[in-house]
Amino acid sequence: MDCAARGKPVDLPPRVTVHLELFVELACLDLEGVLIPEIWIAFAEKTGIDELKATTRDIPDYDVLMTQRLRILREHKLGIHEIQEVIAGLKPLEGAREFVDWLRERFQVMILSDTFYEFSQPLMRQLGWPTLFCHRLEVDEEGRVVGYTLRQKDPKRQTVLALKTLYYRIIAAGDSYNDTTMLKEADAGILFHAPDNVIREFPQFPAVHSYEDLKREFIKASNRDLSL
Ligand SMILES: [Mg+2]
Repeated sequence: MDCAARGKPVDLPPRVTVHLELFVELACLDLEGVLIPEIWIAFAEKTGIDELKATTRDIPDYDVLMTQRLRILREHKLGIHEIQEVIAGLKPLEGAREFVDWLRERFQVMILSDTFYEFSQPLMRQLGWPTLFCHRLEVDEEGRVVGYTLRQKDPKRQTVLALKTLYYRIIAAGDSYNDTTMLKEADAGILFHAPDNVIREFPQFPAVHSYEDLKREFIKASNRDLSL
């Protein structure tokens, strides 16, 4: 195919000309619920601390929720090392590693998540360390979790916006409300493992529930001739 002959060239200052078809396609993936289990819930189950099962569905104010979580960790004397040890016993969702490997052969892959680096590390290791943008926990010298820092407001959408200024074409997939601004901003958005209420509320996005179907959606959304 003669790519250079197709489409409208875009002029970039000072004198670079690029063709839209040649733009690299990037896959942006949510992490929890898409590749790994919900970390706080899995952590609550593993430790038997039921109070830690609360999510933004129970306490919509994220700051209130996180303050409660940090208090519970303190009360149970769980520092970052104990937490990472517990999380190291968790596994990515079945088929997730194979899916990530498949995707990375066809796209540049970035994980955009509202989790914390310190939490996700043991699971990212099992996924082969794909690029991850997320938040940070504040840990003191004794390993106690004393606070957290959110990278920025609406970070998933902001990342997609920033990548678009670099002329990447973005295909994004996620499972929940905190992904929908990213899916809207992307060139193509896909719901994966989403609950019924999210699927109903966002009918503009295709919704799939298996990695095989998700691969097909990425192929469909791509502007290249990809195969399974
Ligand atoms: Mg999620």
